[in-house]
Amino acid sequence: MTSAARILQVGAEIFPLIKTGGLGDVLGALPQALVRQGFDVRLLLPGYPALRQPLTDVQQVCTLGPAFGAASIEILLGRLPGIALPAYVIDAPSLYERAGNPYVDDQGKEWADNAARFGLLGWVAAHLGLGDIDRSWRAHLVHGHDWHAGLAATYLALHPQPRCRSVFTVHNLAFAGLFERELLPTLLLPEDSFGLDGIEFHGDGSMLKAGLQYADAITTVSPTYASEIRTPEFGCGLDGVIAQRAEQLHGILNGVDYEIWNPATDRQLEVRFDHKRIALKAAAKAALQKQLGLAVDPGALLIGVVSRLTQQKGIDLLLQALPALLADGAQLALLGSGDAILENGCRALATAAPSQVAVRFAYDEPLAHRIIGGSDVIAVPSRFEPCGLTQLYGLRYGTLPLVRRVGGLADTVIDADDASLTAGTATGFVFDAATPAALLLAARRAVALHRQSAGWQKVMKRAMAQDFSWDGAASHYAALYRELLAPST
Ligand code: ADP
Repeated sequence: MTSAARILQVGAEIFPLIKTGGLGDVLGALPQALVRQGFDVRLLLPGYPALRQPLTDVQQVCTLGPAFGAASIEILLGRLPGIALPAYVIDAPSLYERAGNPYVDDQGKEWADNAARFGLLGWVAAHLGLGDIDRSWRAHLVHGHDWHAGLAATYLALHPQPRCRSVFTVHNLAFAGLFERELLPTLLLPEDSFGLDGIEFHGDGSMLKAGLQYADAITTVSPTYASEIRTPEFGCGLDGVIAQRAEQLHGILNGVDYEIWNPATDRQLEVRFDHKRIALKAAAKAALQKQLGLAVDPGALLIGVVSRLTQQKGIDLLLQALPALLADGAQLALLGSGDAILENGCRALATAAPSQVAVRFAYDEPLAHRIIGGSDVIAVPSRFEPCGLTQLYGLRYGTLPLVRRVGGLADTVIDADDASLTAGTATGFVFDAATPAALLLAARRAVALHRQSAGWQKVMKRAMAQDFSWDGAASHYAALYRELLAPST
């Protein structure tokens, strides 16, 4: 191919404009890293107010509808602040123009029309690959992220003349994107797509399964998670489908945007530091302890958590282990929101020991940076973890990860056991069983190492030297795209 291959990246959120978790970070960084790999990359995003309002240099590419329950649909092409790529935005006010979270209302209930909202996203993506939405830029390959974009591959595969390849990335298999069979006509899907070898999942349609079933290649966000999801334990009922498609499945570890997550330049930190000025991290810790009302105690092991508060993230394990850790003199700084029972458990611990436990239930980007920068340890005790980003951020800030040996956590953290400490390869603390006792044992190893300043600093330096930049990850995607786009022999 003489000109650059045209790649469309499709997703439901993008940092810095709209983010609920790691997916937003990935969409905010991977596309730009792919441009550095020589591709012509554009984005396709739903026109929520957070994306429609700041769009500039707007061109109207195409008018559609009524369709997907929307009277009018405009496909716009423009520029978004902080994003260096052209972005197609679907302007369909009745589907997207509502305040707040992309997926759920104020009460945390899924928007009733999510199937239409994200079905349309997949349909527009497919037609940008088929060439009938923007005649001046037809995608050669459509890359959809998570269930929100799962139908893109389906519309392409069911088209009589599929002219475009598809990649589907699973960021979290636990979200199936279910919809009722009655919605097939609204979603412009044929009845015969609804079968066990199609998009049906236990009597409903699943946009996630649709992506798994029809994409030319499937990726997920770490090599270990790619193996795990073939098993009943991690497969969320889809392990059979995934096992059948094992040859098309690739595990590519997410990267870190070191322009944003860099302790030497991070504007959210009161005190900046790096591996050469590691002593300054103590000042970042003191500033965090002060901000959160914790005892300003350099000797206390400060454990940070920045997380959705859900069963997946194993926060209950941490809460159960915490009283023993507090007795050892440790502290907890937790930022997150989600499950009411977990929030109550956190609140109770903070009320009982306010100088040792601080919890904030909010989505707060600056505080996330301060906790990741100022803590000694970042805890990610997940039951399952496709990749996990906060442990990668922690590594760069010398905030040693305390993680369960699962998914991307297993791929990115080297346990500080005797062998790795001697070899100088340790970067954190890893435990196996999803139990408070296993977590406590690993956390106590952290408490013990923290008391030996020289040993701790050695591990910190090793952690800070790890390189998980997006360019490495993007080169794996680039190789996959090139393989898919190569003329078949
Ligand atoms: P997941 O996508 O499963 O939630 P990841 O570890 O992949 O988990 O990504 C989580 C991202 O969301 C990280 O960038 C983390 O800093 C951020 N994050 C999570 N909770 C909060 C919060 N309450 N406030 C600010 N950022 C948060």
